[in-house]
Amino acid sequence: MNNLMSTTQEIKLRLAIQKSGRLHDDSIKLLKECGIDISNGMNKLKADATNFPLELFFLRDDDIPQYVEDGVADIGFVGENVVFEKKKKITITEKLGFGKCRLSMAIQRHEQYNGTQFLAGKKIATSYPVIVGDFLKEKGINAEIHEISGSVEIAPGIGLADAICDLVSSGSTLFMNGLKETEVILESQAVLVKNNQLDDARQQLLSRLLFRIQSVKKAKNNKYILLNAPNHNLQQIIGLLPGMRSPTVLPLAEEGWSSVHSVLNENEFWDIIEQLKAAGAQGILVVPIEKMIM
Ligand code: ATP
Ligand code: ZN
Repeated sequence: MNNLMSTTQEIKLRLAIQKSGRLHDDSIKLLKECGIDISNGMNKLKADATNFPLELFFLRDDDIPQYVEDGVADIGFVGENVVFEKKKKITITEKLGFGKCRLSMAIQRHEQYNGTQFLAGKKIATSYPVIVGDFLKEKGINAEIHEISGSVEIAPGIGLADAICDLVSSGSTLFMNGLKETEVILESQAVLVKNNQLDDARQQLLSRLLFRIQSVKKAKNNKYILLNAPNHNLQQIIGLLPGMRSPTVLPLAEEGWSSVHSVLNENEFWDIIEQLKAAGAQGILVVPIEKMIM
């Protein structure tokens, strides 16, 4: 009976996310935006999704690559910095658009920096010995790597190291510790990693999840735009709008005017708005998009 039960049990995709820390909230938020609700409390080791065959594991971010390589979890959300440091046999499948930061070299502010050669023969404190080691090797520089697990930024001030390599987002921590950023080693963000031997059933579940993630990401990068266009300039205004296919054009009650609806990419947004205004567009409304299904 037990055997029968277990073979008919629903297959779930097992996702590892950070238990607490900088990636936790955004990981849960992304799942929510994908329409996936998490049932029981977050303070446990595991939780189930109520409306998608998904099981969540809450782990330290450093452990996620190993769990995914071993197949204890099928997929994970984790920073690229951790993925490159751990060098596990897993595959980066999708960038997730949150947890953005950079791994940078920094030295004391009063020091003269003459390029990467500055590091030759110096002592570098970091929590990323593998990435820093690879970087030095690639540059052909001999330097001593001093691995520490936290508060890397105080190392130069207390005479423990000449330079550090650490995660930076605004740079204010470096500044407060009398340091200056000299070189970016890695631009990082959270990514979805997957086990290299997923079976077909789990691969299918992953495809469904990826489809949702991509729709959410596209929607975030795009805005819905509505505007009023004078008919004599309608063709010029339509020509400025990329849209998913072509813009929707509806006549306005007022003679000689049309309402134009379209979708604009965040990157080209302000450029196009300026051109639309110059072409006589009025009453421009910009609206966020929740999902974008292509
Ligand atoms: P854990 O207890 O899970 O090991 P942690 O202390 O290693 O947590 P956090 O500080 O929560 O980790 O950072 C998790 C990830 O968030 C980093 O590995 C990185 O990918 C990302 N991140 C984004 N911005 C920053 C930042 N300014 N500083 C550090 N990490 C950042
Ligand atoms: Zn960690």
